[in-house]
Amino acid sequence: QWRRVRARLQAELGEATFNSWFKQVEMNGVSEGRVMLSVPTRFIRNWIVSHYADRLAKLWADEDPSFCRVDVLVGAEARTEDAAPVSDAAPVETAAAQAPSAIRADTPLATAVPHGFEDAGVGAPLDPRFTFDAFVVGKSNELAHAAARRVAEATDVTFNPLFLYGGVGLGKTHLMHAIAWEIRKRQPERKVLYLSAEKFMYQFVRALRFKDTMAFKQQFRSVDVLMIDDVQFISGKDSTQEEFFHTFNALIDHNRQVIISADRSPSDLEGIEERIRSRLGWGLAADIHPTDYELRLGILQAKADEMMQRNGPVSIPPGVLEFLAHRIVSNVRELEGALKRVVAYASLVGRPITLDMSQEVLRDLLRSNDRKITIEEIQRRVAEYYNVRLADMLSARRARAVARPRQVAMYLSKQLTTRSLPEIGRKFGGRDHTTVIHAVRKIDELCLVDSGIEEDVDLLRRMLEG
Ligand code: ADP
Ligand code: MG
Repeated sequence: QWRRVRARLQAELGEATFNSWFKQVEMNGVSEGRVMLSVPTRFIRNWIVSHYADRLAKLWADEDPSFCRVDVLVGAEARTEDAAPVSDAAPVETAAAQAPSAIRADTPLATAVPHGFEDAGVGAPLDPRFTFDAFVVGKSNELAHAAARRVAEATDVTFNPLFLYGGVGLGKTHLMHAIAWEIRKRQPERKVLYLSAEKFMYQFVRALRFKDTMAFKQQFRSVDVLMIDDVQFISGKDSTQEEFFHTFNALIDHNRQVIISADRSPSDLEGIEERIRSRLGWGLAADIHPTDYELRLGILQAKADEMMQRNGPVSIPPGVLEFLAHRIVSNVRELEGALKRVVAYASLVGRPITLDMSQEVLRDLLRSNDRKITIEEIQRRVAEYYNVRLADMLSARRARAVARPRQVAMYLSKQLTTRSLPEIGRKFGGRDHTTVIHAVRKIDELCLVDSGIEEDVDLLRRMLEG
């Protein structure tokens, strides 16, 4: 298994990157879904944990369905402390809390920071960074955010259950932790339990094995607020579903707050029984949509601020955050990862952050975020950039204020799409192809003599493509 994971990592990261970080990684063993790796230095361990946690967890989970987390140990540590497999009786959470470098399947990056607390052995730790303060609100997540706040601030049950759903890395776990932190702060007497559906299953299976289902039921039914993350995990797992449903019903009947997350809406949860799906939709189902540009930029600014508060000032030149917000569109986790990677790289090689460097460092990520660029998009972006109205730019007006942006947009359309000159002309208010040729020549010339134009074109090109 390790050999296959290694091979895939090597293929994904490329020879050089792989050799810098993974060449000296050794496999120490696997027990109960827990993978133990050792590395020679603390530095390498931290780097791996902060940069490759998600990837490692994902690759491993692909190989081994029972995977729950990876521990990365440093040389000596690997042989002494923590070398013994976790005994059956020890809750997994405790072990995770002691190993600061554990990478979990559910919230991989969360374990790189100290945990807030443990909860009666069944709950998962909360990430101290996942608070409402740190959550940036935009159009795509405002409903989910508002609902989460309401539930966190109410003194009794509001929407029950609150069902949060959306694609991976869009902030579901963050919102759930934020609710938990907030309730703990406002109403410490309420007992809040947060865990992933996977862990729920794990606990349940263990309870069955130790013929301890009474205690199991007790644990869950005595809480005031139960949060189960990534409930899609129990699809097709019949007995776990059944138990989950009983727990769920018991809590709702006793007027306890239940909060669930999933990667899709209740009705789309295939592999989960109809009666459960329908009950999951009884309260409020709030979806989180993919981010838009403004939200991505807002998140980057917030993360950059937070980074500086923790690690001191970092000079990030204008254009870099904008560039990232334009180009890393997949999800917030990748967006955050991209920023961290650029900052870490700059500080490691001791060079200032620049657009060029960001592009270089993020090459693979940018490629995977790539999509086809359209003429419409170029036009929109250029109009935004020069602050002119799109309609004016496409009209017959010859005023310089719109003529130059128009030429830039034509130029970029020629450079970044495979459209022919006549096609481009048509998209620009039915102009002739000679107009397009003229624009392309003009901008080429200007770029040689006018560094302002050159920069504009360069920045626009990067924003559009990279
Ligand atoms: P999900 O559970 O939906 O897969 P997470 O909650 O784990 O996603 O979010 C992934 C990362 O993105 C986390 O580090 C989280 O803090 C961050 N994140 C997501 N949405 C936001 C947001 N709106 N504001 C700030 N950070 C966010
Ligand atoms: Mg999550």
